[in-house]
Amino acid sequence: MERVDLEVGYGETLALVGESGAGKSTTLLEVMALAAPRHGRIEVLGRDVSALSRAEARRMRAVVQYVPQDPMSSLDPRLPVGDIVAEPLLVQRWPADRVAARVAEVLGLVGLRPRDASAYPHRFSGGQRQRIALARALAVEPELLLLDEPVSALDVSVRAGILDLLRRLREDPGPACLFVSHDLGAVRHIADRVAVLHSGRVVETGGVREVFERPGHPYTRALLAAVPVPDPAAVAVPTESSVPRGGPLAVGEGAAGCRFRTCCPAFTRLEGGQRVRCEREVPGVPDISVGRGRWIACHFPAGLVERR
Ligand code: SF4
Repeated sequence: MERVDLEVGYGETLALVGESGAGKSTTLLEVMALAAPRHGRIEVLGRDVSALSRAEARRMRAVVQYVPQDPMSSLDPRLPVGDIVAEPLLVQRWPADRVAARVAEVLGLVGLRPRDASAYPHRFSGGQRQRIALARALAVEPELLLLDEPVSALDVSVRAGILDLLRRLREDPGPACLFVSHDLGAVRHIADRVAVLHSGRVVETGGVREVFERPGHPYTRALLAAVPVPDPAAVAVPTESSVPRGGPLAVGEGAAGCRFRTCCPAFTRLEGGQRVRCEREVPGVPDISVGRGRWIACHFPAGLVERR
């Protein structure tokens, strides 16, 4: 990752969207690792992770929980569900008398029955396994929940149930959530804010509704136009020809100016003077501010500010 500037507050869900290879999962894994990234800085709960002692990192890991795309990868097939959910509690040395009660509580929270605690993972459907993975992550009352494509492997009816569950957890109020998805319908359903990634960089962030209804960066517009619109009545997405292919210029290669100009669908339609600006000035992040918490890494964000 070259540059990702993101913040997610307590009780808030921030979605990372973009095509495969945009850097979404890498970002999540870097946060989960609680290790200094190759570039930039990661702060979790107000602490720079590169400055954490071993003991501090261990304590931090207890409050940062990860739910993978494939729930089976996090569920030990040799253990009954109750033991799987209890495991992180035991690692954190919860008193034995509280563990059983907490396991029953979180199983109920995700819509499973108390008797499911004695069954093994292979007895459950894909959606139920995702509920078990969520119960395990929620058991320790995390402050930051990392969700990696939590519904992508599920069929439509099961997906709706999991999205409703995630939405309810958010209303509790729940932990801060960083949610990676290429499913814009899911993002619209559960996220408060969205960050659009392209080639390892954030190109636009803002409230989900603002970004989906008035995308400013050419890449965001192309991305939204290229996927099925989840709610056509509510979203009028301007069209772009296609999602831009190829990546931005590498560091040092045409270093001046906007590095996206070689794959920007809007660049060729700009007037001469505007193109010169794209070629000479790096669109600073977040120098084009169009509202609180909203920014676009482009000199000419469509329809939001007067072209300069
Ligand atoms: S600054 Fe110019 S080249 Fe870069 S994304 Fe915006 S319009 Fe395209």
